[in-house]
Amino acid sequence: GPLLVVKDLVKAYPNGTRVLNGVSFEVHAGDVFTILGGSGCGKSTLLNILIGVDAPSEGSVHVLGENIHQLPRPKRATLMRDVGVLFQSGALLQSLTIAENVALPFQQHHPEIASDRELLEDTVMMKLRAVGLSRHADKYPRELSGGMKKRAALARALALDPKLLISDEPTSGLDPVSTKEIDDLTITLSRKSGATVIVVTHDLLSFQRIATRGIMLGAERDGAVRGTVLLSGTK
Ligand code: ADP
Ligand code: ADP
Repeated sequence: GPLLVVKDLVKAYPNGTRVLNGVSFEVHAGDVFTILGGSGCGKSTLLNILIGVDAPSEGSVHVLGENIHQLPRPKRATLMRDVGVLFQSGALLQSLTIAENVALPFQQHHPEIASDRELLEDTVMMKLRAVGLSRHADKYPRELSGGMKKRAALARALALDPKLLISDEPTSGLDPVSTKEIDDLTITLSRKSGATVIVVTHDLLSFQRIATRGIMLGAERDGAVRGTVLLSGTK
């Protein structure tokens, strides 16, 4: 079945703001699914609902067959280990090297790997090689360019070989060349790792480059409501 099923989602904030006016879509294995929309249309709200940190007002989200908003917290935490998330900001800890940042998920979830120093080092280097950062393993985030930081965050999000990768604005703040590099890397990684990918972006060019399918979130502008549209990608 689909890895993610979103049905009739609505979010009404207590102050009366209403976004996601009945959003429905499915993400299938092998998809690079792009969530598009201008600022303020509800991309962050949707993302927070997809990863279970925020609850919908109406509708449901099934991740790997489970309704995540009805799962008891410990079960949800276990399920969400199969979902890698690349957060838009604060993805890397500034006091740790790139290698140490990528080692974190193993320390949290795989003590048998983390306690074997050589195995941990090899595993981390393999992850860094996949994003072209093996020569920068011992640098700190502040020593890297914007594009390299995004690649390091990508390596960390993919550390535990998630079935589903959710990437929040992975190219925000990057120049066009670095943006293309990240887009190319997203395609390569999804093909190599077999992870299904959801990318949140406001960049139509990225959508054209990477998406198998996607959604354009509707928004209310000047009193007129545009509906949400399902898109076919070109990949
Ligand atoms: P995007 O990520 O697409 O820019 P957001 O999901 O951040 O959009 O916000 C969508 C709308 O919901 C905006 O109008 C925003 O002001 C509003 N919003 C977001 N979070 C809250 C909140 N906690 N309380 C009230 N309104 C909110
Ligand atoms: P971008 O245009 O992608 O932001 P930069 O001009 O920041 O690229 O960096 C170009 C190259 O210089 C990067 O690939 C990186 O290897 C190196 N670099 C950038 N900043 C630093 C730094 N503070 N310390 C070491 N190397 C750096």
